Amino acid sequence: MIERSLQALRQALAAREISSVELTQLYLDRIARHDPQLNAFITVDQTRSLAQARAADEQLARGEAGPLTGIPIAHKDIFCTRGWLTTCGSKILGNFVSPYDAAVIARFAAAGAVLIGKTNMDEFAMGSSNETSFYGPVKNPWDASCVPGGSSGGSAAAVAARLAPAATGTDTGGSIRQPAALCNLTGMKPTYGVVSRYGMIAFASSLDQAGPLARSAADCALLLNTMAGFDERDSTSLDRPLEDYSRELNVPPGDKPLAGLRIGLPDEFFGEGCSPEVMRLVEAAIADYRQLGAETVAISLPSTHLSVAAYYVIAPAEASSNLARFDGVRYGYRAPQYQDLNDLYSKTRAQGFGAEVKRRILIGTYVLSHGYYDAYYLQAQRIRRLIADDFAKAFRQCDVIVGPTSPSTAFKLGEKAADPVQMYLSDIYTIAVNLAGLPAISIPCGFAGGLPAGLQLIGDYFTETRLLNVAHRYQQTSSWHLQQPGGFA
Ligand code: GLN
Repeated sequence: MIERSLQALRQALAAREISSVELTQLYLDRIARHDPQLNAFITVDQTRSLAQARAADEQLARGEAGPLTGIPIAHKDIFCTRGWLTTCGSKILGNFVSPYDAAVIARFAAAGAVLIGKTNMDEFAMGSSNETSFYGPVKNPWDASCVPGGSSGGSAAAVAARLAPAATGTDTGGSIRQPAALCNLTGMKPTYGVVSRYGMIAFASSLDQAGPLARSAADCALLLNTMAGFDERDSTSLDRPLEDYSRELNVPPGDKPLAGLRIGLPDEFFGEGCSPEVMRLVEAAIADYRQLGAETVAISLPSTHLSVAAYYVIAPAEASSNLARFDGVRYGYRAPQYQDLNDLYSKTRAQGFGAEVKRRILIGTYVLSHGYYDAYYLQAQRIRRLIADDFAKAFRQCDVIVGPTSPSTAFKLGEKAADPVQMYLSDIYTIAVNLAGLPAISIPCGFAGGLPAGLQLIGDYFTETRLLNVAHRYQQTSSWHLQQPGGFA
């Protein structure tokens, strides 16, 4: 069962080959057996998950199944979930039981999915290694001495070790795609505004976007069908006609399924900065794409080298404002002893936030302050425009932009923890995509030294269906995405 695609699980449930209660119990047992080594989950609640599974079985019996009825899905602990602890990886929300559901949670519930657990993550989604979580680091199932990537590292480790058939993540600068690459998964960040941010705890609101983490592009398409859609409670949600993101996948492949597709290869992604082993795998994947009928064109994204710097002004600026709400007054952690209101605020925040979150609040407050705003924040916004313009120009020459997802395979736990700039450079290929608001997907493209590497495909706005199809065609003729880590029987 644990090898089956979401589509196959759906069929097995419909045919009564297995019940949702049995399937859910199977995954709960796997979590109990393997999660102590991985630390991928913050909250698992057998009783609630099984109650949802029983309700799903009743729905199936009545013939009222939705697209995901009875299928267990893990959710990143950034999504407010009614009646469940929702920590965002932080001590400051360590006692927060959400009174309401995020839009993403509600949509999965409406589609009949069973919530199998809330996954570990970097604190407030700030990180690339899952080491900033108050609940401890997550281990990479491919090598427990390595990080799974971040910030959606718990979701990625859970799916890679087959502790859940699929999961959700969020991506502000790479947090779906980079852990997907480091754990041999397929992960997609949709166009900004496609998935509602309502109830998704905000880090950098103009960059944050939720998306699927799964074992294949076909599974991601099914998940995105459930996640996407207009929501008037999110002022940046886009009111567009609903799409079936799977619609191109079932067209028979033929000999050259990608004939006519123009793949853009940006000079800036193929220079220095990427490890030679990862680059070899990326180049081999590009050769495979030529076999599938695609042609390649050289393009340039000249402002790429500015993207990390601009991001680390804009994201902290927005975070410093978003995180002002955690003050110990209405919900969450409150310092046990304080003198007056100011002391309550400062002790609560000093004790409740970890070091990386504090660093970002300080940077953000600084770049927004009088006298520095023009020099930093305004400049960064201008760079953001240049980056978006680079992509707009590139998409006149090509349909999809391809390169590495991450400059290296999974690094060792602790290796970059002391050096924030090294950590920030993990997202050198992913961050520009968030600054421009574009969709992108990471797919497995091979192994170096036993660790997986990811290929990133970036599309123009609202081309999720095509991106998923381009990823799917590669997965029809390659088997990298089917490889799984040993030791999780
Ligand atoms: N690693 C980046 C950061 O630390 C991106 C995180 C994310 O996408 N949530 O901000």
